[in-house]
Amino acid sequence: MKIIKIKTKADGENDVKVLVIYTGGTLGMVYDAKSDSLVPFDFAQIPDNLPEMARLDFEISVLTFDKLLDSSNMNPDVWVNLAEIIEENYTNFDSFVILHGTDTMAYSASAMSYLLEGLNKPVIFTGAQLPIGVARTDAKENFITALEIAASRTHNRPTVSEVCIYFNSLLLRGNRARKHESVQFNAFESENYPVLAEAGIKIEYNKPYLKHYDSDAILKVHKSLDENVVILKLFPGITEKVVRNILEIKGLRGVVLETFGSGNAPTSEWFLKLMKEFVEKGIIIFNVSQCNGGRVTQGRYQTSQFMLEIGVVSGADMTTEAAITKLMFALGQSVDNQEVKKILKHSVSGEMS
Ligand code: ASP
Repeated sequence: MKIIKIKTKADGENDVKVLVIYTGGTLGMVYDAKSDSLVPFDFAQIPDNLPEMARLDFEISVLTFDKLLDSSNMNPDVWVNLAEIIEENYTNFDSFVILHGTDTMAYSASAMSYLLEGLNKPVIFTGAQLPIGVARTDAKENFITALEIAASRTHNRPTVSEVCIYFNSLLLRGNRARKHESVQFNAFESENYPVLAEAGIKIEYNKPYLKHYDSDAILKVHKSLDENVVILKLFPGITEKVVRNILEIKGLRGVVLETFGSGNAPTSEWFLKLMKEFVEKGIIIFNVSQCNGGRVTQGRYQTSQFMLEIGVVSGADMTTEAAITKLMFALGQSVDNQEVKKILKHSVSGEMS
């Protein structure tokens, strides 16, 4: 993968250097008449459609994935690859913008927030609902503002030093965001954590909620994610056969259990027995709520009391996206379930409170 420098107004040694990593997504897609669908296209067309880039006063370089991805094809190997690209380029660049499809952006941003331990530079994900070549595209504003946020400095330090998603005027913590809208431009929300910045005439940062900048932090990139996990969403009427078949998957190590309300599940005898049996067999069960806002409080109702008793781990106020990637990360860190549970119970990168 080659790094190409884009022409901007940057003119000296002291200019901020931003590396754009283009993974694919609608932002750079074009209409393909043959297949009658949108397909990823290469980055060369983006500066043509975005002459505004030439007016920015910092350096921009671009690294394009050999194979551009619709983000529905994103997977843990690509996340590790992305983390390695950041590791390799960490000393040469001040910040990173990742162009990514919106569909799985919240998963990718969550995964990166765990893989990049000790990060003290901005990593801003962005994308678009409409391709950059379309007249009403949202790609221009999203991309230009993500670049400006990535290049922003306060007292000679990066204003932002964490993994974020910038979309439709809002800067959100990556592992708190979720895609909640597939048609309107406001694709992302963060129900359980305040917006980190809002871009109007000025970009207003919500300073108390930004991750604290640590000048002594040293980047340590983790490269192991365990894919032996599943998301099991409860629904009224779910049967023993379905739950048992899922829990019996060969090699399964962890389950994100999407429960009702504040972490509640059926109290039918078969369900309690199954949960107990598989927790005792060493399957980690991580309890998150199907609600967008609020939190899991195991023990609040009788319908969640048993979860607490058998050792189900509470996912507190985490999103499912942040929970499943955290489970992959924690299982990748250790084969000892006690260690894994310890990682799950604590905030690794601001994903829970
Ligand atoms: N399917 C596209 C993707 O996630 C949608 C988008 O980019 O908005 O890659």
